[in-house]
Amino acid sequence: VPELPEAETIVRGLRPFLLGARIARVEVLRSDLLDARPEDFVSLLMGRVIQEVDRRGKNLILTLGTVEPTPPAKPASPRPGFKAGSAAVEGRSGPGIPDRTHLVVNLGMSGRLLLAQVEGDTRPPPSHPGIRFLLTDARVLVYDDVRRFGRLRVLDPAQYREWSRTLGPEPLSPGFTARDLCEALAASTTPVRSWLLDQRRIAGVGNIYANEALFRAGLDPRIPARRIPPEAGRRLHRALRSVLREAIGNQGTTLRDYRTPDGGEGSHLQALRVYGREALPCRSCGARVERIVFGGRSAFRCPTCQPWIGS
Ligand SMILES: [Zn+2]
Repeated sequence: VPELPEAETIVRGLRPFLLGARIARVEVLRSDLLDARPEDFVSLLMGRVIQEVDRRGKNLILTLGTVEPTPPAKPASPRPGFKAGSAAVEGRSGPGIPDRTHLVVNLGMSGRLLLAQVEGDTRPPPSHPGIRFLLTDARVLVYDDVRRFGRLRVLDPAQYREWSRTLGPEPLSPGFTARDLCEALAASTTPVRSWLLDQRRIAGVGNIYANEALFRAGLDPRIPARRIPPEAGRRLHRALRSVLREAIGNQGTTLRDYRTPDGGEGSHLQALRVYGREALPCRSCGARVERIVFGGRSAFRCPTCQPWIGS
């Protein structure tokens, strides 16, 4: 299942190829991937230019406008006549503002977004194409999904902000501090592994990286969030960020369906310390890793390195 590092890998791989590309046509092959009617989905995207490729949590976000993206790294300086409260308050300028829209791609279990039919491409074509975005330069961006749990939605800026507010903070953003995490944990009795999986509390963490972060922080996945003392909360904050960063460095974890945008597998699988390692020796102490099922999902734990806290 793609989590934050996999989404980030896809974003980094696709961004240089997609910025400035214009959508000529959209073909909906699987309408169950959409909440909207296919004809509405298509009409909201036709003719638009991809201005940004980003992610929010595990979701890929394509920001689309009507004009070419402005080159980045321009220092923001207020121009003469700049009026607070105008559309330019968002830090962008140009005639494309009112028409901006966001394509939100939730990859579900097995979704992939890939650029197909690029010259010299020797990869096999997508096996389960759901939506095809034909670009004006003859390239094709394909949303491919074997199991079809993914969802694609087009949101206007107000709807996008509203949706984004339903998600918790980005764990890798500089603004997400250990103190924020400790305060949020203290307000909940949920087992910490389930807490980490809740996208409303923190965005982008799924079962793989939640388990890995808890191992690194030395915490039993079943501990109620509010029982975690501040110093362990700080450890968890550090562990979470380092696990996610390392996984991004390894281009994510391929268990089954996930592929990097160039068709390769992420190499983080070998780096996993507990996830999927039931009955194998702990990489730190040699004790046997346990699998415990709760909240409908497997959790993995080293009984020595991740002791239960308190009574
Ligand atoms: Zn251990």
